[in-house]
Amino acid sequence: MTIAVRKNLVLEYKYKLKCPNAMTAEYITIHNTANDAPAANEISYMKNNTSSTSFHFAVDDKEVIQGLPLNRNAWHTGDGTNGPGNRKSIGVEICYSKSGGAKYKAAEALAIKFVAQLLKERGWGVDRVRKHQDWNGKYCPHRILSEGRWDEVKAAIATELESLGGEETSSLKTKSSGGESTYTVKKGDTLSGIANAEGVSVANLQSWNGIKDPNKIKVGQKLKLKGSSSSSPKPSSKKSSFKLPSGIFKVKSPLMHSDAVKQIQTAMAALHFYPDKKAKNYGIDSYYGPKTADAVRRFQLMNGLKADGIYGPKTKAKLEVLLK
Ligand SMILES: [Zn+2]
Repeated sequence: MTIAVRKNLVLEYKYKLKCPNAMTAEYITIHNTANDAPAANEISYMKNNTSSTSFHFAVDDKEVIQGLPLNRNAWHTGDGTNGPGNRKSIGVEICYSKSGGAKYKAAEALAIKFVAQLLKERGWGVDRVRKHQDWNGKYCPHRILSEGRWDEVKAAIATELESLGGEETSSLKTKSSGGESTYTVKKGDTLSGIANAEGVSVANLQSWNGIKDPNKIKVGQKLKLKGSSSSSPKPSSKKSSFKLPSGIFKVKSPLMHSDAVKQIQTAMAALHFYPDKKAKNYGIDSYYGPKTADAVRRFQLMNGLKADGIYGPKTKAKLEVLLK
């Protein structure tokens, strides 16, 4: 069944503020509103206020409302004037995320169906779906992230898309699938945009290319897309080569500061259970302190394990399954 979309579009005289640029979308970005208002309120607030912040859709437990035309950009991903999040992605806000509960669950379920429908309409695969965090690091969609369910949400979109008879993946741009290890900076590129398109982290791009200020890249500059050494402590979205230690790790255990702890932290972070999401390198510091114990506790809670904040064989096994 097709999900109907109610339109309540920003008036044209406000385009300059809310959606000044024509857009050919390439991605869909998912947000949580961090609010407890219904979609109608989110859209009318966005439409009528004097802030430039904008988005294309708000979804609550009952309906999908569109606030901007899809051929115009929205300011929703914090990656700057020319960032691909802001300039090439359709923004979908999921309502009621602040308090969660049944209304939020229903809103998220409707959003999953709706995003699948958007993908199907465009002949896109689920590889076009991004979370706000992918563009500028903001902890959004906060509820999905804190509950460690981003991969689950994406999988649900994929399942829905499959049931609509959609594509599994769709080729993005002219991304080379191997061999190519440099990227030539084009006009309008941002480091975060390049990082996203190439599936690497901004921090890695900076370190591989000696870039101190991520805002200073030059058109024509050739960027290395691979490091010469394998020192990349940054959590990566590639889930292949995670080593995990055996044994028991907990606060005040003799092994509380070690490379083994770093392995645990890196694996947790890859699943969005950061020791400290606001800290440098997400709090990955090789130290099994209270913050790491808390991340382990949250992970255990979400995965049906005894939530004691102690890393042991069961937690290891679960991490290994999820990181395969
Ligand atoms: Zn957001």
